[in-house]
Amino acid sequence: MIVLSPLSFADSPRVLWVFSWHKDLPWQQEIERGFESHFESTLLDSKFYYEYLDSARFKDLSHTDAFIRYITSKYKNKHLDIVFFEGEPASQVYLNNAQLFAQSQVILINPGVEVGNLPDSTAVISAKLDYQKATSSFLQLNPNKDVVIVAGDEPAARSRTSEVKSFIKEQSPHVSVELLVGLSLPTVKNKVALLSKNSVVLYLLMFDDEKGEHYIPYQVAEQLASSSSVPVYSFWTSLLRSGIVGGYMIDGQRVGEQAALLLESGVSVDSINSFNTQTHGFYFDARQLEAWEIDEELLPVNATVLFAKRNIIEEYFVPIMTSFTLFILLVFVFRYIELKKYTTQLNGAKNALRATNESLMLAQEELTSKNKKLEDLSITDHLTQLYNRTYLEKTLERELERAQRYGNHLSIILVDIDHFKKVNDNFGHQMGDKVLQAVANVLKSNLRSIDSVGRWGGEEFLILCPNSSLRQATLLAEKLRSEVERVPINRTSRITASFGVACFHNNTSEQLINEADVALYRSKDAGRNCVCA
Ligand code: GH3
Ligand code: MG
Ligand code: MG
Repeated sequence: MIVLSPLSFADSPRVLWVFSWHKDLPWQQEIERGFESHFESTLLDSKFYYEYLDSARFKDLSHTDAFIRYITSKYKNKHLDIVFFEGEPASQVYLNNAQLFAQSQVILINPGVEVGNLPDSTAVISAKLDYQKATSSFLQLNPNKDVVIVAGDEPAARSRTSEVKSFIKEQSPHVSVELLVGLSLPTVKNKVALLSKNSVVLYLLMFDDEKGEHYIPYQVAEQLASSSSVPVYSFWTSLLRSGIVGGYMIDGQRVGEQAALLLESGVSVDSINSFNTQTHGFYFDARQLEAWEIDEELLPVNATVLFAKRNIIEEYFVPIMTSFTLFILLVFVFRYIELKKYTTQLNGAKNALRATNESLMLAQEELTSKNKKLEDLSITDHLTQLYNRTYLEKTLERELERAQRYGNHLSIILVDIDHFKKVNDNFGHQMGDKVLQAVANVLKSNLRSIDSVGRWGGEEFLILCPNSSLRQATLLAEKLRSEVERVPINRTSRITASFGVACFHNNTSEQLINEADVALYRSKDAGRNCVCA
């Protein structure tokens, strides 16, 4: 017995598997897959080799000799750490040639025969199914059915068959057991095709028949299942998909994983000379359960049902969801584009509206200012820029009313430029205009803010003085007179004006004006350049 040293992650183990059968045998492929999957995540630099004796096809010794020469020369310098021989034929090759791989640790998995004395560096591990448990669960699923066992003629198949048969007899003594063992495949197919409905077939592997024909167990399972008139059960996961119903099975992949674990943990092999039940499980083919109308409720709770048909929704879930999501996405994109378009249009409209509003406001302002100008024009005398007569008349009426209502004073002053005709005659009409403008400025700049002055006609001006008594207005007129006196025409000539002052005493505007006029004439008569009230 040997003790395997644990492999560290720094190691790169060199491992050779020597399998018994053709490399396409599902059982071997499962072991390989399980073994490698364990190392995939741990050791990056490991080296695994696989060889296949293919013993079903090549039975004669010359093939075996050639195979031994081949692997000896191929792996001479490979410094293998571990060599696995899996199954009976491969193990036999090692047992007959014990000098093989003397430098490596050798582990026989399921040698299937008595191994006798082994070299020190060799271990034997059983990856056998728990036939007792497999048989009892098979019987539980098929109570009171006649059991027909199909198996090959090779020694392992015969011993397997008798082991299972004795378990059946032990557990269900009344169940009848028929053995179809060692027969040719066509004979077996004919027989299972004619079984009564009260039977079930239990297939315990077939490599050889009595005539020495060789078979691959998976192909036998396929043909058996397709011709049988009743369900076919078996105990190896590698046979699933062939048409068998299922059962309590040994899983090749898990055997491979256990072998990998063994290398990694480095436990002593004699303490684990069989893999534990980790390698076992209940597996069933959903399609066969349906075909044979076997109720899934009857299966053990921890059973794995494979190849279940999914319903239409499940089947097309991904494409349906993808299309749906794409559709929603497209709707959003279109909505977004539309929204963007509307927003752009809306913004355009808003800008246009704003521009229109602005120009409207400008137009309004322009209109207001033009109106103001028009109004100003309508009340302004063009030459002197004083109020015109129309405005003066209206204002006089207003002020009269107010003076009457509040009992305030209101005085007016009528101003007439003296001998203005002479100004025109002597200096020209243009100079006359300038004199008119100069007098207008003098009058305007010497009044209070509440007083109004306007051009009454030709060279006559009228001044309205609210809240002014006759005396106050006369004083104002006197002041204006002395200011006008200073207005020069040229270096030698000056201008003068005569003033007539009148105060409101509940008379009409005409009467008031007339009184001022009379006063003005008195000023003229008095020699001009004076004020009369
Ligand atoms: P008096 O001292 O008696 O007032 O003498 P006067 O010459 O000022 O009076 P009159 O009424 O005889 O003459 C007024 C003159 O004023 C006649 C007219 O040609 C002139 N005049 C009236 N309006 C204007 C005007 O707008 N521009 C000019 N340059 N002269 C004007
Ligand atoms: Mg006059
Ligand atoms: Mg005059």
